[in-house]
Amino acid sequence: MQKIKILPEEVINKIAAGEVIERPASVIKELVENSLDAQAKYITIELEDAGKKLIRVIDDGIGMSPADLKICIQRHATSKIQEFSDLEKLQTFGFRGEALSSIASVSKIRIVSKTDSELAGWEIISEGGKIISDHEAGHSKGTTVEVNEIFFNTPARKKFLKSDITEQSHIIKTIEELALVNFSVGFILKIDKKIYFTLPPAKKIDDRIIDILGDKIYGNLIQIFEEHRYIKIFGFVSRIESSQANKNIQYFFVNSRPVTSRLLSQALYEAFRDSLPIGRHPMAIILIDINPKFIDVNVHPTKRIIKFSDERTVYEIITQTIKKHLTKQPSPVLTIKDSSLKTEITSEKNYVVYAPKPEQENLGFSIIREKISEEKEHEGTFEEFSVLGQIHNTYILLNTPEGLTIVDQHAANERVLYEKFLNENSAYKIQELLIPHTLELAPHECEILKNHIKAINLLGFETSEFGLNTIIFKSYPAILGELKNLNDFFKEFITLLIDELLDTTKKTIEPKEKIIRSACRAAVKAHDTLSVEEMKKLIIDLKKCNQPLCCPHGRPTMIGITISELEKKFQRK
Ligand code: ADP
Ligand code: MG
Repeated sequence: MQKIKILPEEVINKIAAGEVIERPASVIKELVENSLDAQAKYITIELEDAGKKLIRVIDDGIGMSPADLKICIQRHATSKIQEFSDLEKLQTFGFRGEALSSIASVSKIRIVSKTDSELAGWEIISEGGKIISDHEAGHSKGTTVEVNEIFFNTPARKKFLKSDITEQSHIIKTIEELALVNFSVGFILKIDKKIYFTLPPAKKIDDRIIDILGDKIYGNLIQIFEEHRYIKIFGFVSRIESSQANKNIQYFFVNSRPVTSRLLSQALYEAFRDSLPIGRHPMAIILIDINPKFIDVNVHPTKRIIKFSDERTVYEIITQTIKKHLTKQPSPVLTIKDSSLKTEITSEKNYVVYAPKPEQENLGFSIIREKISEEKEHEGTFEEFSVLGQIHNTYILLNTPEGLTIVDQHAANERVLYEKFLNENSAYKIQELLIPHTLELAPHECEILKNHIKAINLLGFETSEFGLNTIIFKSYPAILGELKNLNDFFKEFITLLIDELLDTTKKTIEPKEKIIRSACRAAVKAHDTLSVEEMKKLIIDLKKCNQPLCCPHGRPTMIGITISELEKKFQRK
């Protein structure tokens, strides 16, 4: 029975055209996707000379009948769609019917296949796209595609191939991606006749992640999940303290298809924006399931690029989902309570959260509500920490049930102020100055600020420019508390702000955010020596934050040494 048909002309004309075979890795991608489309349970991939000499993909999928084999390497021959509207409900990787024909035209290809209904298998051999042999051959149910001497007849393209190491790394990355998302399928990769890896069929993606990336990386990931009307997001992102120096561990999938997407990447970085230092990168494995009606996979021949019909919504949902889960992660050094309780805690000042009592520990968190007065809160009724003191006017030492926690008071203070700004939203209270404060700047600095005076004033400042090189402040946001050295504060604020506004790596950050960050940083520099009460208050405020673990610029607010680490260091055991 013949399932494969040549697409009609009018459908062909609507499909994104172009070359899909650039290098051995593209061959592997197409062949493995075909095996997955054929519902293979196990796929073996073999390479010789980084795929330049041989690529062989063996699967146990549904196979092809002799009639299908004879037609499968023709252009636009596909069993996956028949008319253009089929794209709206596409469930397969392939649909253009061009991969096998493109591969066949630039290599010597042998395909052997058998379906369940056929007694024997069938084999075709082609060179440069012409079938030179076509006969019965032994094969179990499934398909073997063997691609020999890629680009043998197109020397110019062969010349463009990179070193074996580079080509091989592209191949491995390609298999990695497909294997991650198709975790229930087993994969074996053999390189130059030796087994490179075996990935047994897995029940959960978690097991596949461990098999591919290792359990150390897996341990640094937190799971994310969200379901909306037409979109479902599932996956993993790194804990904020486990950022990376490069972007190597970032995988995006849309309906199981590995994609490269600026939109998704920007959404990921937006979620991490105030949690990562510049130059550090999050890890991410993000799987999006979306009704095919709302995406277009037909924008690029390799289908690596897709288009969402509602980009804004997708961006927002992804950012919010990641953010939500990031703030839920518990601190390894300071017991942070479940974030769903936070809103109550901030709005109900009289309630205090206590550390878990031993018998309640298995609940994950515990909360004992007890009305106590504000003064009592300052007397240190918290059981989770006591302040041991401050060193170098910079670090606060805390005794916690886990061990010793060291808090960077500037980073902590910055985080607290920053979240106060975010929570206040509008109508910022102002702290009026008795005498307006003037600041002299270079004319070009004034010029940069001019465009942002309105935004600055919306946050509780009353600022105006005065002449070519002077700006005047009549107030500052009351959130910042009592500022001791106004001159230092305003100078620092404006310098930081100008730096942020000019920083080209921060183009995507809104001016409002830059103003808030600069104001918070400048304000905390003014407070150095803290009384024990001030330290306690700071830690209590920090614990109420949505993201207490780092400052708005991404620096950590605290580090910890556990009792068992101390015991190890002092060789107590
Ligand atoms: P597409 O995947 O876009 O349909 P291809 O050129 O990749 O186009 O493949 C052409 C057709 O050959 C497929 O539609 C499918 O019917 C058949 N085919 C290719 N590879 C396999 C395989 N491994 N197992 C079963 N059928 C296959
Ligand atoms: Mg295909």
